[in-house]
Amino acid sequence: MQHSKTQSDSPIYFIISDQPDTCGYCGARLEFVESKEMEGEEVFVNECLCCKREILMVEN
Ligand SMILES: [Zn+2]
Repeated sequence: MQHSKTQSDSPIYFIISDQPDTCGYCGARLEFVESKEMEGEEVFVNECLCCKREILMVEN
């Protein structure tokens, strides 16, 4: 899975790949929460079932 980091004061977005969605921090499976539009891009909001982080994913 490819990761894309933005500046530290911005949310971190992960690029959706053809791999199964997993947490970019701990590698656990993600639970899809919702999709929403942020700054003109569709963002998929997921929650890690393990570390409980909110994982934001965008299509490349
Ligand atoms: Zn995690």
